[in-house]
Amino acid sequence: MNMDFKREMPAANVVRDMYPLSDELIEKKQANDAELRRIFTGESDKFVLVIGPCSADREDAVVDYIERLRGVQDRVADKIVIVPRVYTNKPRTTGDGYKGMLHQPDPHNSPDLLKGLIAIRKLHVDVLTKTGFSCADEMLYPENHRYLADCLSYVAVGARSVENQQHRLVASGLKIPVGMKNPTGGDLSVMMNSITAGQRPHAFVFSGWEVQSKGNPLAHAILRGFANKNGRSTPNYHYEDLQFLCELYEKSSLVNPAVIVDCNHANSGKRWAEQPRIANEVLHSMRHSESIRKLVKGLMVESYIEDGNQKSDGCVYGQSITDPCLGWEKTEKMILELAEQL
Ligand code: PEP
Ligand code: MN
Repeated sequence: MNMDFKREMPAANVVRDMYPLSDELIEKKQANDAELRRIFTGESDKFVLVIGPCSADREDAVVDYIERLRGVQDRVADKIVIVPRVYTNKPRTTGDGYKGMLHQPDPHNSPDLLKGLIAIRKLHVDVLTKTGFSCADEMLYPENHRYLADCLSYVAVGARSVENQQHRLVASGLKIPVGMKNPTGGDLSVMMNSITAGQRPHAFVFSGWEVQSKGNPLAHAILRGFANKNGRSTPNYHYEDLQFLCELYEKSSLVNPAVIVDCNHANSGKRWAEQPRIANEVLHSMRHSESIRKLVKGLMVESYIEDGNQKSDGCVYGQSITDPCLGWEKTEKMILELAEQL
């Protein structure tokens, strides 16, 4: 092999023991999970908002941002369940660029994956301790899920990973909702196949073990838009797209039909300021069609303290160093307006 084995990484239980969860935090996370489960099984018609920065680049700004979300969550608790995005590992289209706190715990310094692995656990535990939120992360590296499993209430399988067997099989062994994104090319059959794989039980090798998963009935769809054959961002959040997804679910044998609509990425063409408009359009479609209302469980929004983004070596506190985000003022306004409409 053409790589240096630099150092052995600590096992998941070793990193968990560095930042363990108290009984009180375990109960909090279980209560958050139960509330989400009720939504994805259709028992509750509260609306999910998976919302937060594209990447969790620094602990101080991320905790500050999520403390603000806590205040809004308490005002809209009868309608909306917020799941903050604490995305600690980032897929990159060409492999270049900032790959998240896991790789670079300090974005201004060289990669240090040992420090990064510890930093991402600390961040998720600190957010839960300070705000009561157990959060969402992308499951970019399924082998790493165990380092965070007791902290997370939601995971997404990204557009670049959704066709991968290991992601699908590990998703089938989780107890929390797993959102399968449509792939970057937009083929919804890839996403539906991924949900099918996620909902079924499988035998496979994981973490050096032969394992048997039970199947995850909370695996569901995320529509994030796609790039057409000319590379142009093309939305898939419109009424007809949602209607088409209803039909795909009807033809399938899947349980708990559900979609989260991602308002950024190829749905906005990364024009971050469009996100409130897109959110409003989805709510409009839900009012127009009962089957769409039942299918759409919530939205994903990329949001942070400051509007837009900066280069990854930038120093602006609370401004994204990856995809552009909706800033705090506009975010708060959007959440309160969504709650009024629901
Ligand atoms: C993200 O959610 O920041 C992301 C990378 O999404 P996608 O996989 O849809 O590109
Ligand atoms: Mn993003």
